[in-house]
Amino acid sequence: MYTFFKTLAATAFFTTLAYIRYTSLANTPATSFIECLQTIQGNRSSYLSTPSSPTYDKDRVLFNKAFDHRPGAIFYPASENDAAAAVLCAASHHVSVVPRSGGHSFEGYSGGSQGTLVIDLTLFQHFSIDHDTGIVTIGAGHRLGSVYTKLWTAGEYLVPAGTCPGVGIGGHALGGGVGMLGRKYGMLSDNVVGLNMISAEGEVWHISDTSRSDLFWALRGAGGGSFGLVTEFKIQAYKAPPKVTVMRVRFPWSEHRAVMDSFGKWSAKISANDISAMLYIGQNKTVFLGTFLGSQDKAKAAVAPLLSLTGAPQQIEFREGTWFQAASTWAALDGTKIDNPIGNFSLSLRLRSLLYRNPLSENELEIISRHLSNGPSDIENPKHRLISSVTMETWGGKIDDPKSPSAFDNHRGVLYSVQYGVERVAPRSWHSDSICTTCAEWSDRFSHELHAAYSSGDVLEAYQNYMEHGIPNGLQAYYGENLARLVEIKRAVDPDNLFTFPQAIPLG
Ligand SMILES: Cc1cc2nc3c(=O)[nH]c(=O)nc-3n(C[C@H](O)[C@H](O)[C@H](O)COP(=O)(O)OP(=O)(O)OC[C@H]3O[C@@H](n4cnc5c(N)ncnc54)[C@H](O)[C@@H]3O)c2cc1C
Repeated sequence: MYTFFKTLAATAFFTTLAYIRYTSLANTPATSFIECLQTIQGNRSSYLSTPSSPTYDKDRVLFNKAFDHRPGAIFYPASENDAAAAVLCAASHHVSVVPRSGGHSFEGYSGGSQGTLVIDLTLFQHFSIDHDTGIVTIGAGHRLGSVYTKLWTAGEYLVPAGTCPGVGIGGHALGGGVGMLGRKYGMLSDNVVGLNMISAEGEVWHISDTSRSDLFWALRGAGGGSFGLVTEFKIQAYKAPPKVTVMRVRFPWSEHRAVMDSFGKWSAKISANDISAMLYIGQNKTVFLGTFLGSQDKAKAAVAPLLSLTGAPQQIEFREGTWFQAASTWAALDGTKIDNPIGNFSLSLRLRSLLYRNPLSENELEIISRHLSNGPSDIENPKHRLISSVTMETWGGKIDDPKSPSAFDNHRGVLYSVQYGVERVAPRSWHSDSICTTCAEWSDRFSHELHAAYSSGDVLEAYQNYMEHGIPNGLQAYYGENLARLVEIKRAVDPDNLFTFPQAIPLG
């Protein structure tokens, strides 16, 4: 993308185009949508990719290769003015706008559909930190790995967020953002103190608890793709503690059901917020992974109540180091490096999740164990590796005690999430437009049974950053009692539904 842009930027074609300020575009729409986008060159670093561009097939690729979307255009603005101008081009031609930051949506929602305009924030890479307040200003094009790296370099700071280095800060911070620091510092969205957003009218709005406070409430939990294009985040960062312990405890596969049961019961009783953890069950492994903000000895004491509930582990590893070493360890679980999150393989996923307020029932444990023991095999591509897994992740702690109200509040009191599904690992060059048939069938049966057995409430509760297209009453599962207020805010800020996708906040 960049190489092509440099070549293009040097051509006479680009330099002779007139610069039309975005403020005038709404009154004087160009003859076609694409021509309108081509006129935007306030900042020459912006880049337009259309179906006839040589880079289009690369530009439209998402993390989840099960989706193969072909949007009308993909625009990479390099400034808020250019982003706003692109939004106005779309609005004046009745084209939907789909923001994209890291492209990690489970359901490929940032890929747009035919005819839509994807606005990709990759070029928004500005970063600065105010050392007096610890507030960091981050361009919406950052991936988590580069956020962790820059924060560490700036003075050993951290923010609480997910483990996968390739996830974009944009979708992540707007839909929650949980990881190995969640119980200590809360969701990433809870630590957002300000945002810049391009509205459907092409204006740059500065949003905080004192400026458009309703939208500030909505964007922190329900902000992905529904209200506008967020270009910048202001986030509270923290100085990392001097010692961080990484924990790995491996149990026999035969014990996976009993360990899941123990993990659920332990989650309900954790007293320390210094510990955040997950239990991974897959590939014939049952592994507890945890981060403790403190010394190895204190970490052992914190995890002892869990080990008193489980059978004897096969292997125990506690490693003391820095926060950045811990974050790099978790990043490597994805087979990538923290500062270079591009793996050497192509992944297509069908991952689902539910949120639980109680330990799993016997029925739920039986369903999970049975499906994991009978994972799918790919008869169409026998050389591709299929990994079926379940990951339980602790919530609670500071997640239940946010600094200010937000659209994430319906999830306070959740003990843990359960993410389940199948990933297909294929050579990097491999592309598809679907998940394998047996994977889809297996995943649908698994979801169906788990939904029917749900024991943590009268209705399903699920995490909006792990969206699932087929989940019954999805908006209710994601936003609960906040949904009505979110619909009102949507009507006020985007009455023409410019920003939309299949599970977006609706107008009514
Ligand atoms: C491999 C993998 C690991 C993950 N690990 C974690 C984890 O540890 N913890 C966790 O909480 N979640 C995790 N997630 C889920 C992840 O947080 C969400 O998928 C998140 O939405 C991804 O953000 P993105 O910017 O990469 O995605 P995108 O696909 O770019 O966007 C996701 C959604 O947000 C919208 N959006 C994106 N950027 C903006 C913007 N700037 N303004 C307005 N709307 C925007 C998009 O339109 C889309 O609807 C993981 C996902 C994957 C695939």
